[in-house]
Amino acid sequence: MIYIANWKMHGNSRDIESLNPIIKLSKQKKYRNIKLVYCPPYTLLDLMKRKFINSKIHVGAQNCHFNSEYGAFTGSINSKMLKSIGTKYVIIGHSENRTDGDNDLIINKKIKSALQENLKVILCIGETLFEKRKKLTKKILKKQIKNSLYKVKKVENIIFAYEPRWAIGTGIIPKTKTLTKNIIDIKKILISVNKKLNSAKILYGGSVNSQNVKEIVKIKGIDGFLVGGASLNSKKFIDIIKKSIN
Ligand code: PEP
Repeated sequence: MIYIANWKMHGNSRDIESLNPIIKLSKQKKYRNIKLVYCPPYTLLDLMKRKFINSKIHVGAQNCHFNSEYGAFTGSINSKMLKSIGTKYVIIGHSENRTDGDNDLIINKKIKSALQENLKVILCIGETLFEKRKKLTKKILKKQIKNSLYKVKKVENIIFAYEPRWAIGTGIIPKTKTLTKNIIDIKKILISVNKKLNSAKILYGGSVNSQNVKEIVKIKGIDGFLVGGASLNSKKFIDIIKKSIN
């Protein structure tokens, strides 16, 4: 199981101490085989990496610029910079960045630039509420996956996070039946796009908490969770891990 904590635009240097319980958990025999990745804001990547130095927890960025080279892109950070400070993962295509203008073409460029730097990509895909209501989910997922992976070579370094955009931060999650179907569809689409993706990891994200995770984890094909709000609090995040492992 893979657990990704997305801190979004939260946290400062004082919050690093709150990670002690998760470091402790990661060292327990029972949780030795889970993969834990923390994605704080850029400002905390280096500090967090140092905090995790004697543990197996990795750090990831929440985004990167699409340009692989340095350049005149004020306020941006690219994958080369992320790599230089020991970042291992990067989230690409998050719903909040799609809302801010990231489209499939930009996402495709970001993926290529991240993979070029040997970063592991966490690619977020998912439909809006409008698209869901119009029964376009499968079509949208297919479009997002196909376009994002266009001429991408090292696909085995991509983890997929199915995050229905209407489920993020709303407290609403998909019905079990719908989520089961969507995960099956994603699996089929991935294999149709590239055979190497038959063992790709698929995570679920969107309002995961310690209560609903017990049901979601039973769904076949879900290999872990991308957690936003609940990951800001170590106790809540640990609860999610414990409830989905037991
Ligand atoms: C996210 O930010 O990717 C996310 C899933 O957020 P939340 O868990 O708060 O819905």
